[in-house]
Amino acid sequence: MAKLTILGAAESGIGAAKLAVKKDWEVFVSDAGMIGQERKEVLSHIGVQWEEGAHSDRIFEADLVVKSPGITDKAPIIKKMHEKGIPVISEIEFASRYTSATIVGITGSNGKTTTSTLMHHLLKKAGRDSILAGNIGRSFADALAEREPEVFVLELSSFQLDGIVDFRPDIAILLNITPDHLDRYEYDINQYADSKFRVAMNQKESDVFIYCDDDPLILEGLQKHELKGQKIPFSIQHSVPEGAWLENEELKFLLNSEHNTKLNTTLSTMSIYTLALQGKHNLYNSMAAGIAANVLNVRSESVRESFSDFQNVEHRLELIGKVNGVEYINDSKATNVNATWYALESMNNPVVWVVGGVDKGNDYSQLLDLVREKVKAIVCLGKDNKKIIAAFKDVVPVIVETESAADSVHQSSLVARPGDTVLLSPCCASFDLFENYEERGRMFKRAVRSL
Ligand code: ADP
Repeated sequence: MAKLTILGAAESGIGAAKLAVKKDWEVFVSDAGMIGQERKEVLSHIGVQWEEGAHSDRIFEADLVVKSPGITDKAPIIKKMHEKGIPVISEIEFASRYTSATIVGITGSNGKTTTSTLMHHLLKKAGRDSILAGNIGRSFADALAEREPEVFVLELSSFQLDGIVDFRPDIAILLNITPDHLDRYEYDINQYADSKFRVAMNQKESDVFIYCDDDPLILEGLQKHELKGQKIPFSIQHSVPEGAWLENEELKFLLNSEHNTKLNTTLSTMSIYTLALQGKHNLYNSMAAGIAANVLNVRSESVRESFSDFQNVEHRLELIGKVNGVEYINDSKATNVNATWYALESMNNPVVWVVGGVDKGNDYSQLLDLVREKVKAIVCLGKDNKKIIAAFKDVVPVIVETESAADSVHQSSLVARPGDTVLLSPCCASFDLFENYEERGRMFKRAVRSL
Protein backbone atom coordinates (compact mmCIF):
# COMPACT_ATOMS: atom_id res chain seq x y z
CA MET A 1 0.00 0.00 0.00
CA ALA A 2 1.39 3.39 -0.91
CA LYS A 3 1.74 5.80 1.99
CA LEU A 4 0.26 9.27 2.12
CA THR A 5 1.01 11.94 4.72
CA ILE A 6 -1.49 14.72 5.08
CA LEU A 7 -0.22 17.89 6.73
CA GLY A 8 -2.97 19.88 8.38
CA ALA A 9 -6.29 18.50 9.55
CA ALA A 10 -8.54 21.33 8.40
CA GLU A 11 -11.23 21.11 5.73
CA SER A 12 -8.87 20.18 2.90
CA GLY A 13 -6.87 17.69 4.97
CA ILE A 14 -9.93 15.81 6.15
CA GLY A 15 -11.33 15.77 2.61
CA ALA A 16 -8.06 14.43 1.26
CA ALA A 17 -8.02 11.74 3.95
CA LYS A 18 -11.52 10.57 3.04
CA LEU A 19 -10.70 10.37 -0.63
CA ALA A 20 -7.30 8.76 -0.05
CA VAL A 21 -8.80 5.97 2.06
CA LYS A 22 -11.26 5.24 -0.75
CA LYS A 23 -8.38 5.10 -3.19
CA ASP A 24 -6.48 2.62 -1.01
CA TRP A 25 -3.76 4.82 0.39
CA GLU A 26 -2.34 4.17 3.83
CA VAL A 27 -2.98 7.58 5.34
CA PHE A 28 -1.36 9.45 8.22
CA VAL A 29 -2.60 12.91 9.24
CA SER A 30 -0.36 15.30 11.16
CA ASP A 31 -1.29 18.73 12.48
CA ALA A 32 1.08 21.08 14.32
CA GLY A 33 -1.94 22.55 16.11
CA MET A 34 -4.83 20.86 17.84
CA ILE A 35 -7.40 18.89 15.87
CA GLY A 36 -11.06 19.56 16.65
CA GLN A 37 -13.05 16.76 18.27
CA GLU A 38 -15.40 16.38 15.34
CA ARG A 39 -12.53 15.96 12.90
CA LYS A 40 -10.84 13.40 15.12
CA GLU A 41 -14.04 11.41 15.08
CA VAL A 42 -14.16 11.51 11.28
CA LEU A 43 -10.58 10.26 11.11
CA SER A 44 -11.21 7.44 13.56
CA HIS A 45 -14.37 6.53 11.70
CA ILE A 46 -12.48 6.07 8.43
CA GLY A 47 -9.61 4.30 10.19
CA VAL A 48 -6.93 6.95 9.74
CA GLN A 49 -4.18 7.49 12.30
CA TRP A 50 -3.32 11.04 13.31
CA GLU A 51 -1.13 13.17 15.56
CA GLU A 52 -1.54 16.72 16.85
CA GLY A 53 0.49 19.44 18.55
CA ALA A 54 3.69 18.70 16.59
CA HIS A 55 4.94 16.78 13.56
CA SER A 56 6.84 13.58 14.38
CA ASP A 57 9.32 11.93 12.01
CA ARG A 58 6.59 9.58 10.89
CA ILE A 59 5.46 12.27 8.43
CA PHE A 60 8.53 11.48 6.34
CA GLU A 61 7.52 7.85 5.87
CA ALA A 62 5.51 8.72 2.80
CA ASP A 63 5.37 8.27 -0.95
CA LEU A 64 3.37 11.45 -1.30
CA VAL A 65 2.44 14.42 0.88
CA VAL A 66 -0.72 16.51 0.67
CA LYS A 67 -0.33 19.80 2.47
CA SER A 68 -2.88 22.27 3.72
CA PRO A 69 -2.99 25.53 1.72
CA GLY A 70 -2.16 27.29 5.01
CA ILE A 71 1.40 25.86 5.00
CA THR A 72 3.73 27.79 2.71
CA ASP A 73 6.27 26.18 0.41
CA LYS A 74 8.96 27.89 2.43
CA ALA A 75 8.02 26.18 5.69
CA PRO A 76 10.94 24.10 7.05
CA ILE A 77 9.02 20.80 6.95
CA ILE A 78 8.18 21.33 3.28
CA LYS A 79 11.82 22.06 2.52
CA LYS A 80 12.76 18.87 4.35
CA MET A 81 10.25 16.89 2.29
CA HIS A 82 11.85 18.25 -0.86
CA GLU A 83 15.31 17.34 0.40
CA LYS A 84 14.12 13.79 0.95
CA GLY A 85 12.63 13.71 -2.52
CA ILE A 86 9.04 13.28 -1.30
CA PRO A 87 6.60 15.05 -3.61
CA VAL A 88 4.32 17.61 -1.92
CA ILE A 89 1.03 18.60 -3.53
CA SER A 90 -2.16 20.39 -2.61
CA GLU A 91 -5.48 18.72 -1.96
CA ILE A 92 -6.77 20.21 -5.24
CA GLU A 93 -4.03 18.43 -7.15
CA PHE A 94 -4.62 15.19 -5.26
CA ALA A 95 -8.37 15.16 -5.91
CA SER A 96 -7.97 16.09 -9.57
CA ARG A 97 -6.04 12.88 -10.13
CA TYR A 98 -9.19 10.90 -9.37
CA THR A 99 -11.82 12.54 -11.52
CA SER A 100 -12.65 12.98 -15.14
CA ALA A 101 -15.59 15.32 -14.46
CA THR A 102 -15.61 18.66 -16.25
CA ILE A 103 -13.91 21.24 -14.04
CA VAL A 104 -14.64 24.95 -13.95
CA GLY A 105 -11.84 26.54 -11.87
CA ILE A 106 -12.49 30.08 -10.65
CA THR A 107 -9.86 32.36 -9.17
CA GLY A 108 -9.09 36.05 -8.70
CA SER A 109 -8.43 38.45 -5.84
CA ASN A 110 -12.12 39.31 -5.37
CA GLY A 111 -15.38 37.79 -6.52
CA LYS A 112 -14.42 34.11 -6.36
CA THR A 113 -17.20 33.04 -4.04
CA THR A 114 -19.83 35.14 -5.78
CA THR A 115 -18.87 33.90 -9.24
CA SER A 116 -18.53 30.27 -8.19
CA THR A 117 -21.92 30.33 -6.50
CA LEU A 118 -23.48 32.00 -9.52
CA MET A 119 -21.84 29.50 -11.88
CA HIS A 120 -23.20 26.61 -9.86
CA HIS A 121 -26.64 28.22 -9.87
CA LEU A 122 -26.53 28.64 -13.67
CA LEU A 123 -25.74 24.96 -14.09
CA LYS A 124 -28.25 23.67 -11.55
CA LYS A 125 -31.06 25.74 -13.00
CA ALA A 126 -30.25 24.32 -16.40
CA GLY A 127 -30.74 20.85 -14.96
CA ARG A 128 -27.05 19.99 -14.94
CA ASP A 129 -25.32 17.88 -12.33
CA SER A 130 -22.94 20.36 -10.71
CA ILE A 131 -21.11 20.29 -7.38
CA LEU A 132 -19.68 23.48 -5.85
CA ALA A 133 -16.47 22.98 -3.88
CA GLY A 134 -12.95 24.23 -3.17
CA ASN A 135 -12.02 27.31 -1.20
CA ILE A 136 -15.70 28.02 -0.67
CA GLY A 137 -16.04 25.63 2.25
CA ARG A 138 -16.45 22.05 1.19
CA SER A 139 -13.18 20.73 -0.18
CA PHE A 140 -12.86 19.26 -3.66
CA ALA A 141 -11.56 15.95 -2.25
CA ASP A 142 -14.37 15.70 0.27
CA ALA A 143 -16.99 16.23 -2.42
CA LEU A 144 -15.33 13.74 -4.73
CA ALA A 145 -15.02 11.14 -1.97
CA GLU A 146 -18.80 11.18 -1.89
CA ARG A 147 -19.51 11.12 -5.61
CA GLU A 148 -18.42 12.33 -9.02
CA PRO A 149 -20.78 14.78 -10.75
CA GLU A 150 -20.84 15.90 -14.38
CA VAL A 151 -19.27 19.27 -13.47
CA PHE A 152 -17.22 20.49 -10.53
CA VAL A 153 -17.34 24.24 -9.98
CA LEU A 154 -14.22 24.97 -7.92
CA GLU A 155 -13.39 28.18 -6.12
CA LEU A 156 -9.58 28.33 -6.04
CA SER A 157 -7.34 30.51 -3.90
CA SER A 158 -3.79 31.33 -4.89
CA PHE A 159 -2.55 29.22 -1.97
CA GLN A 160 -4.37 26.22 -3.39
CA LEU A 161 -2.98 26.89 -6.84
CA ASP A 162 0.56 27.06 -5.49
CA GLY A 163 0.40 23.34 -4.74
CA ILE A 164 -0.80 22.07 -8.09
CA VAL A 165 1.29 20.11 -10.58
CA ASP A 166 -0.96 18.70 -13.33
CA PHE A 167 -4.34 20.10 -12.25
CA ARG A 168 -6.12 21.24 -15.40
CA PRO A 169 -9.55 22.85 -15.40
CA ASP A 170 -11.51 22.49 -18.64
CA ILE A 171 -12.64 26.05 -18.05
CA ALA A 172 -10.51 28.46 -16.03
CA ILE A 173 -11.80 31.86 -14.95
CA LEU A 174 -9.44 34.62 -13.80
CA LEU A 175 -11.55 37.49 -12.47
CA ASN A 176 -9.01 40.10 -11.42
CA ILE A 177 -5.64 40.56 -9.77
CA THR A 178 -5.28 43.22 -7.09
CA PRO A 179 -2.98 43.31 -4.08
CA ASP A 180 -3.96 40.83 -1.35
CA HIS A 181 -2.08 38.29 0.77
CA LEU A 182 1.18 39.83 -0.34
CA ASP A 183 2.79 38.67 2.90
CA ARG A 184 2.84 35.16 1.38
CA TYR A 185 4.51 36.37 -1.82
CA GLU A 186 7.48 38.35 -0.49
CA TYR A 187 5.45 41.54 -1.00
CA ASP A 188 5.84 41.05 -4.72
CA ILE A 189 2.67 41.52 -6.76
CA ASN A 190 4.27 39.68 -9.68
CA GLN A 191 4.72 36.52 -7.66
CA TYR A 192 1.11 36.74 -6.54
CA ALA A 193 -0.06 37.30 -10.12
CA ASP A 194 2.02 34.33 -11.32
CA SER A 195 0.31 32.21 -8.73
CA LYS A 196 -3.12 33.19 -10.08
CA PHE A 197 -2.06 32.31 -13.62
CA ARG A 198 -1.26 28.79 -12.49
CA VAL A 199 -4.98 28.09 -12.86
CA ALA A 200 -4.45 27.89 -16.63
CA MET A 201 -0.87 26.66 -16.93
CA ASN A 202 -1.77 23.05 -17.77
CA GLN A 203 -4.62 23.79 -20.14
CA LYS A 204 -4.73 22.21 -23.60
CA GLU A 205 -5.87 23.83 -26.85
CA SER A 206 -9.37 22.51 -26.34
CA ASP A 207 -9.71 24.15 -22.90
CA VAL A 208 -11.01 27.62 -22.28
CA PHE A 209 -9.44 30.49 -20.33
CA ILE A 210 -11.92 33.24 -19.44
CA TYR A 211 -10.37 36.48 -18.19
CA CYS A 212 -11.01 40.15 -17.51
CA ASP A 213 -9.74 42.28 -20.35
CA ASP A 214 -9.89 45.45 -18.23
CA ASP A 215 -7.36 44.29 -15.67
CA PRO A 216 -3.81 45.57 -16.28
CA LEU A 217 -2.12 42.81 -14.28
CA ILE A 218 -4.00 40.12 -16.19
CA LEU A 219 -3.07 41.70 -19.52
CA GLU A 220 0.54 41.84 -18.39
CA GLY A 221 0.39 38.21 -17.30
CA LEU A 222 -1.01 37.15 -20.65
CA GLN A 223 2.10 38.52 -22.30
CA LYS A 224 4.32 36.65 -19.93
CA HIS A 225 2.62 33.25 -19.65
CA GLU A 226 2.20 31.02 -22.64
CA LEU A 227 -1.27 29.60 -22.26
CA LYS A 228 -2.59 26.98 -24.64
CA GLY A 229 -6.28 27.27 -23.76
CA GLN A 230 -8.63 29.35 -25.93
CA LYS A 231 -8.68 32.82 -24.48
CA ILE A 232 -12.10 34.40 -24.06
CA PRO A 233 -12.18 37.92 -22.58
CA PHE A 234 -14.86 40.00 -20.89
CA SER A 235 -14.88 43.77 -20.52
CA ILE A 236 -17.08 46.61 -19.45
CA GLN A 237 -14.88 49.15 -21.19
CA HIS A 238 -14.99 47.94 -24.77
CA SER A 239 -16.48 45.28 -27.02
CA VAL A 240 -14.53 42.12 -27.73
CA PRO A 241 -14.46 39.92 -30.86
CA GLU A 242 -15.49 36.94 -28.78
CA GLY A 243 -16.60 36.83 -25.16
CA ALA A 244 -18.75 39.27 -23.20
CA TRP A 245 -18.98 43.04 -22.90
CA LEU A 246 -21.22 45.87 -21.75
CA GLU A 247 -22.94 48.03 -24.31
CA ASN A 248 -25.88 50.42 -23.79
CA GLU A 249 -26.72 48.94 -20.38
CA GLU A 250 -26.85 45.44 -21.79
CA LEU A 251 -24.51 42.53 -21.33
CA LYS A 252 -23.62 40.99 -24.66
CA PHE A 253 -22.32 37.48 -25.09
CA LEU A 254 -20.82 36.28 -28.32
CA LEU A 255 -19.21 32.90 -28.73
CA ASN A 256 -18.05 31.14 -31.84
CA SER A 257 -19.66 27.83 -32.63
CA GLU A 258 -16.30 26.22 -31.98
CA HIS A 259 -16.88 26.82 -28.26
CA ASN A 260 -20.52 26.19 -28.36
CA THR A 261 -21.11 23.24 -30.56
CA LYS A 262 -24.66 22.45 -29.56
CA LEU A 263 -26.13 25.89 -29.81
CA ASN A 264 -24.12 27.54 -32.52
CA THR A 265 -24.89 30.72 -30.67
CA THR A 266 -24.71 34.08 -32.21
CA LEU A 267 -25.16 37.12 -30.04
CA SER A 268 -27.20 37.00 -26.84
CA THR A 269 -27.99 40.06 -24.74
CA MET A 270 -29.38 40.76 -21.29
CA SER A 271 -30.39 44.04 -19.75
CA ILE A 272 -28.32 44.85 -16.68
CA TYR A 273 -31.53 45.89 -14.90
CA THR A 274 -32.75 42.31 -14.86
CA LEU A 275 -29.66 41.08 -13.01
CA ALA A 276 -30.20 40.16 -9.38
CA LEU A 277 -26.56 40.97 -8.63
CA GLN A 278 -26.05 44.71 -8.71
CA GLY A 279 -22.85 46.77 -8.84
CA LYS A 280 -20.14 47.08 -11.44
CA HIS A 281 -18.05 44.29 -9.97
CA ASN A 282 -20.97 41.94 -10.33
CA LEU A 283 -21.21 42.75 -14.03
CA TYR A 284 -17.75 41.25 -14.29
CA ASN A 285 -18.73 38.24 -12.21
CA SER A 286 -21.87 37.74 -14.28
CA MET A 287 -20.03 38.02 -17.59
CA ALA A 288 -17.43 35.49 -16.48
CA ALA A 289 -19.99 32.94 -15.32
CA GLY A 290 -22.21 33.64 -18.33
CA ILE A 291 -19.41 32.87 -20.78
CA ALA A 292 -18.59 29.63 -18.97
CA ALA A 293 -22.25 28.62 -18.99
CA ASN A 294 -22.36 29.34 -22.69
CA VAL A 295 -19.30 27.21 -23.32
CA LEU A 296 -21.03 24.42 -21.42
CA ASN A 297 -24.03 24.76 -23.69
CA VAL A 298 -26.47 26.26 -21.23
CA ARG A 299 -29.18 28.01 -23.22
CA SER A 300 -29.21 31.78 -23.02
CA GLU A 301 -32.84 31.89 -21.85
CA SER A 302 -31.83 29.73 -18.93
CA VAL A 303 -28.82 31.96 -18.19
CA ARG A 304 -31.05 35.02 -18.30
CA GLU A 305 -33.53 33.50 -15.89
CA SER A 306 -30.79 32.41 -13.49
CA PHE A 307 -29.17 35.83 -13.53
CA SER A 308 -32.42 37.39 -12.44
CA ASP A 309 -33.31 35.02 -9.61
CA PHE A 310 -29.86 34.46 -8.13
CA GLN A 311 -29.64 35.06 -4.39
CA ASN A 312 -26.30 36.57 -3.49
CA VAL A 313 -24.16 34.94 -0.86
CA GLU A 314 -24.28 36.32 2.65
CA HIS A 315 -21.95 39.22 3.61
CA ARG A 316 -21.38 40.40 0.00
CA LEU A 317 -23.29 43.63 -0.56
CA GLU A 318 -26.17 41.96 1.21
CA LEU A 319 -29.21 44.16 1.65
CA ILE A 320 -30.35 43.76 5.24
CA GLY A 321 -33.40 45.99 4.95
CA LYS A 322 -34.73 49.49 5.54
CA VAL A 323 -35.23 51.07 8.95
CA ASN A 324 -36.76 54.55 9.18
CA GLY A 325 -36.17 55.10 5.48
CA VAL A 326 -32.46 54.21 5.77
CA GLU A 327 -31.10 51.25 3.82
CA TYR A 328 -28.59 48.97 5.61
CA ILE A 329 -26.09 46.85 3.65
CA ASN A 330 -23.73 44.17 4.96
CA ASP A 331 -20.53 43.84 2.92
CA SER A 332 -18.47 42.39 5.76
CA LYS A 333 -16.55 40.19 3.30
CA ALA A 334 -14.92 43.32 1.82
CA THR A 335 -11.61 42.84 3.59
CA ASN A 336 -9.45 44.76 1.17
CA VAL A 337 -9.50 48.17 -0.52
CA ASN A 338 -10.47 46.89 -3.93
CA ALA A 339 -13.59 45.12 -2.70
CA THR A 340 -14.70 48.26 -0.86
CA TRP A 341 -13.97 50.38 -3.92
CA TYR A 342 -16.59 48.40 -5.85
CA ALA A 343 -19.06 48.59 -2.98
CA LEU A 344 -18.79 52.38 -2.76
CA GLU A 345 -18.86 52.66 -6.51
CA SER A 346 -22.19 50.88 -6.65
CA MET A 347 -23.88 53.16 -4.08
CA ASN A 348 -26.51 55.57 -5.37
CA ASN A 349 -27.54 57.25 -2.08
CA PRO A 350 -25.51 59.32 0.40
CA VAL A 351 -23.50 56.79 2.41
CA VAL A 352 -22.76 56.37 6.08
CA TRP A 353 -19.73 54.16 5.79
CA VAL A 354 -18.82 51.66 8.51
CA VAL A 355 -15.16 50.80 8.09
CA GLY A 356 -12.18 49.45 10.02
CA GLY A 357 -10.61 46.43 11.66
CA VAL A 358 -7.16 44.99 11.08
CA ASP A 359 -5.42 46.91 8.32
CA LYS A 360 -3.48 44.68 5.89
CA GLY A 361 -1.26 47.50 4.61
CA ASN A 362 -4.12 49.38 2.95
CA ASP A 363 -3.58 52.31 0.64
CA TYR A 364 -6.72 54.36 1.24
CA SER A 365 -5.85 57.03 -1.31
CA GLN A 366 -7.51 54.90 -4.02
CA LEU A 367 -10.83 55.49 -2.27
CA LEU A 368 -10.53 59.26 -1.82
CA ASP A 369 -12.51 60.33 -4.89
CA LEU A 370 -15.38 57.94 -4.22
CA VAL A 371 -15.49 58.82 -0.55
CA ARG A 372 -15.50 62.54 -1.29
CA GLU A 373 -18.37 62.06 -3.71
CA LYS A 374 -20.55 59.60 -1.78
CA VAL A 375 -19.75 59.39 1.91
CA LYS A 376 -21.37 61.82 4.36
CA ALA A 377 -20.12 60.19 7.54
CA ILE A 378 -17.66 57.54 8.62
CA VAL A 379 -18.27 55.21 11.53
CA CYS A 380 -15.06 53.42 12.43
CA LEU A 381 -15.49 49.86 13.68
CA GLY A 382 -12.10 48.80 14.95
CA LYS A 383 -9.58 49.07 17.75
CA ASP A 384 -7.07 51.20 15.92
CA ASN A 385 -8.59 53.71 13.52
CA LYS A 386 -5.75 56.21 13.22
CA LYS A 387 -4.97 55.42 9.60
CA ILE A 388 -8.58 55.71 8.49
CA ILE A 389 -9.06 59.00 10.31
CA ALA A 390 -5.83 60.43 8.85
CA ALA A 391 -6.82 59.35 5.34
CA PHE A 392 -10.33 60.82 5.34
CA LYS A 393 -10.51 63.62 7.90
CA ASP A 394 -10.23 66.27 5.22
CA VAL A 395 -12.98 64.88 2.99
CA VAL A 396 -15.61 63.58 5.41
CA PRO A 397 -17.06 66.03 7.96
CA VAL A 398 -18.25 63.44 10.50
CA ILE A 399 -16.04 60.61 11.76
CA VAL A 400 -16.92 58.63 14.88
CA GLU A 401 -15.20 55.65 16.46
CA THR A 402 -16.92 52.52 17.77
CA GLU A 403 -15.74 49.17 19.06
CA SER A 404 -18.77 46.95 18.63
CA ALA A 405 -21.15 46.09 15.82
CA ALA A 406 -24.11 47.24 17.92
CA ASP A 407 -22.55 50.62 18.64
CA SER A 408 -21.55 51.09 14.99
CA VAL A 409 -25.18 50.53 13.97
CA HIS A 410 -26.46 52.82 16.71
CA GLN A 411 -24.07 55.64 15.75
CA SER A 412 -24.91 55.17 12.07
CA SER A 413 -28.62 55.41 12.79
CA LEU A 414 -28.03 58.73 14.53
CA VAL A 415 -26.34 60.36 11.52
CA ALA A 416 -28.30 58.72 8.70
CA ARG A 417 -31.36 60.47 7.26
CA PRO A 418 -34.18 58.87 5.21
CA GLY A 419 -32.83 58.12 1.75
CA ASP A 420 -29.30 57.39 3.02
CA THR A 421 -27.51 54.05 2.96
CA VAL A 422 -25.51 52.65 5.85
CA LEU A 423 -22.83 50.45 4.35
CA LEU A 424 -20.63 48.06 6.33
CA SER A 425 -17.70 47.55 3.95
CA PRO A 426 -14.73 47.40 6.28
CA CYS A 427 -11.68 47.21 3.95
CA CYS A 428 -10.00 45.34 6.76
CA ALA A 429 -9.80 41.94 8.41
CA SER A 430 -12.04 41.42 11.41
CA PHE A 431 -10.04 39.68 14.09
CA ASP A 432 -9.41 42.70 16.34
CA LEU A 433 -13.04 42.57 17.50
CA PHE A 434 -14.57 39.46 15.93
CA GLU A 435 -13.89 35.79 15.32
CA ASN A 436 -14.08 36.26 11.55
CA TYR A 437 -15.84 38.34 8.90
CA GLU A 438 -18.97 36.18 9.14
CA GLU A 439 -19.37 36.96 12.82
CA ARG A 440 -18.83 40.67 12.11
CA GLY A 441 -21.54 40.56 9.43
CA ARG A 442 -23.96 38.57 11.55
CA MET A 443 -23.60 40.86 14.57
CA PHE A 444 -24.06 43.89 12.35
CA LYS A 445 -27.24 42.40 10.89
CA ARG A 446 -28.56 41.50 14.30
CA ALA A 447 -28.00 45.07 15.49
CA VAL A 448 -29.81 46.47 12.44
CA ARG A 449 -32.74 44.14 12.98
CA SER A 450 -33.11 45.26 16.57
CA LEU A 451 -33.08 48.98 15.76
P1 ADP B 1 -13.71 36.21 -2.76
O1 ADP B 1 -14.32 34.84 -2.64
O2 ADP B 1 -12.74 36.29 -3.91
O3 ADP B 1 -13.16 36.76 -1.49
P2 ADP B 1 -16.39 37.32 -2.76
O4 ADP B 1 -17.30 36.93 -3.87
O5 ADP B 1 -16.56 36.67 -1.44
O6 ADP B 1 -14.89 37.18 -3.23
O7 ADP B 1 -16.48 38.91 -2.57
C1 ADP B 1 -15.57 39.54 -1.66
C2 ADP B 1 -15.78 41.02 -1.63
O8 ADP B 1 -15.39 41.57 -2.90
C3 ADP B 1 -17.24 41.47 -1.44
O9 ADP B 1 -17.20 42.61 -0.65
C4 ADP B 1 -17.74 41.76 -2.83
O10 ADP B 1 -18.73 42.74 -2.82
C5 ADP B 1 -16.47 42.24 -3.54
N1 ADP B 1 -16.41 41.78 -4.95
C6 ADP B 1 -17.13 40.78 -5.51
N2 ADP B 1 -16.79 40.62 -6.81
C7 ADP B 1 -15.81 41.52 -7.07
C8 ADP B 1 -15.06 41.85 -8.24
N3 ADP B 1 -15.24 41.20 -9.40
N4 ADP B 1 -14.16 42.85 -8.13
C9 ADP B 1 -13.98 43.50 -6.97
N5 ADP B 1 -14.68 43.27 -5.86
C10 ADP B 1 -15.58 42.27 -5.88
